[in-house]
Amino acid sequence: MGKKEFKTPPNFIKDIIEEDLRAGRYGGRVHTRFPPEPNGFLHIGHAKSVCLNFGLAQEYNGLCNVRMDDTNPSTEDEAYVQAIKEDVRWLGFDWEDRFYYASDYFDKLYEYAIELIKKGKAYVDSLSQEEIRQYRGTLTEAGKESPYRNRSIEENLELFERMKKGEFPEGAHVLRAKIDMAHPNLNMRDPVMYRIKYATHYRTGNRWCIYPTYDYAHCISDSIEGITHSICTLEFEDHRPLYDWFLDELGIYHPKQIEFARLNLTYTVLSKRYLSILVREGYVTGWDDPRMPTIRGLRRRGYTPEAIKDFCERIGVAKRNSVVDVALLEHCLREDLNKRAPRAMAVLRPLKLVIVNYPNDQVEELEAVNNPEDPSMGTRKIPFSKVLYIERDDFRENPPKDYFRLAPGREVRLRYGYYVTCVDFIKDSNGNVIEVHCTYDPETRGGWSADGRKVRGTIHWVSARHAIPVEVRLYDYLFTKEDMTNLEEGEDFRQYINPKSLEVLYPCYVEPSLANAPPESRYQFERLGYFSVDPVDSKKDRLVFNRIVTLKDTWSKIEKKLTENA
Ligand code: ATP
Ligand code: MG
Repeated sequence: MGKKEFKTPPNFIKDIIEEDLRAGRYGGRVHTRFPPEPNGFLHIGHAKSVCLNFGLAQEYNGLCNVRMDDTNPSTEDEAYVQAIKEDVRWLGFDWEDRFYYASDYFDKLYEYAIELIKKGKAYVDSLSQEEIRQYRGTLTEAGKESPYRNRSIEENLELFERMKKGEFPEGAHVLRAKIDMAHPNLNMRDPVMYRIKYATHYRTGNRWCIYPTYDYAHCISDSIEGITHSICTLEFEDHRPLYDWFLDELGIYHPKQIEFARLNLTYTVLSKRYLSILVREGYVTGWDDPRMPTIRGLRRRGYTPEAIKDFCERIGVAKRNSVVDVALLEHCLREDLNKRAPRAMAVLRPLKLVIVNYPNDQVEELEAVNNPEDPSMGTRKIPFSKVLYIERDDFRENPPKDYFRLAPGREVRLRYGYYVTCVDFIKDSNGNVIEVHCTYDPETRGGWSADGRKVRGTIHWVSARHAIPVEVRLYDYLFTKEDMTNLEEGEDFRQYINPKSLEVLYPCYVEPSLANAPPESRYQFERLGYFSVDPVDSKKDRLVFNRIVTLKDTWSKIEKKLTENA
């Protein structure tokens, strides 16, 4: 049915891997890893990295590890480790028995550091942090060597051991690689390898008071695990010479670091720092707030892992940073749920409709299709009676041009019901319409007229006496600015927080078949969008539905324009 050919998006990393396989590098293996720091919850940007790393392993018959990049004791926590496991599993990936921790390599990292000292490739520096910064120089100016740079190997070994034993206060010394203070790449100007930190690590406790830096620990962790392709985001491109330097100097197995552009989304921030401010300062209810771009937020909102994976596949992998339209993510969700989500009738802003010629106590069971995209999902019965709720929007006292819904004297179809004609309406003292009166045509049962009479509008409804009152939460983007990666100097991201990102409606009414809708179940409410049962706040006597997305697909339009211009 008009299914578009879907062009495989570019992924330059596949080209690199295929070239490596052809050349017989790494023994024909592909082994990737996903290395989050357990200092926060995963977001959709991480999902891109998860899908990429696991996806490549799958495609090339390889393996993918998950590694906690936990070398910074002050921000990391076991609770995050558990959350990361849960989120990666929910996305549908399996690390089998390869769940690792950089902190498990602390001993090995220490041994390698001693090796570098012995080779004259590392030294203990006693400059202060501030002095180290000043000595580093700038992009246009060479750095200056520390007066401690030429300590003897023996002195370095002794000082480093005493650092480890806890004989010095924080900041007294650091261990640095001895490379080149005039190197054009600032990362190569004797980077710090170890710093003293008296903090309890969530796994190693107080066993260590010196901790390795990311640059030193990461390459060695990759090496220990036999990683072939170490994929990271673009900001590490300038660190690659250092990645290579450590491994070459140590003469150990050497994976290849490859950088790709991190994911950015319109109307969204994807940095743990900003996301944690949103949580801490109460702009959202938590990391799992359905407006958050975290995996748990998306999950609670009602997103499916399939939609997220499809999205990650479609955006491809590039070498240049860009901002992806969030409409594409929504489009992927719609495509997925269109096929899978059962349809239901729900009214968000109820207006009473009374059918004046319908018998008072009569109830009919009308047949409704569960999913027109999938006949195997069958049909269900929905009750119809004299008093219904319809959407307030679906009646206008003075209909504008092109308005085909209900208005005085106008006939419309009630979906799966009957044709009804508006004969009267009642207003309250403020002039708001509070009740619409109609007649129905008993010859139009099911919503079709035997005499071939056409109506232009079809509206949804629920039977008032059978309806279940529920709470519905409608969401808008968290930010009002399209490109949040592009803030002006001195601008605070908070000034773009959308004050209207959440609208709570109660009571809304849903058809009785949803009375026992389980947490996280998803539906298309006819004409209103896709909704899911909130797994946190929903209660047996007050179901809460999140709107995942509306039905209006803005991406299809964008895509059409793009292909026309291509
Ligand atoms: P943040 O900027 O949110 O703090 P991070 O890079 O510090 O992210 P890590 O836990 O270190 O978070 O990231 C784990 C992995 O996920 C890394 O390989 C990183 O490159 C990748 N990653 C993080 N954010 C994105 C993103 N926006 N797009 C693609 N990959 C990402
Ligand atoms: Mg990081």
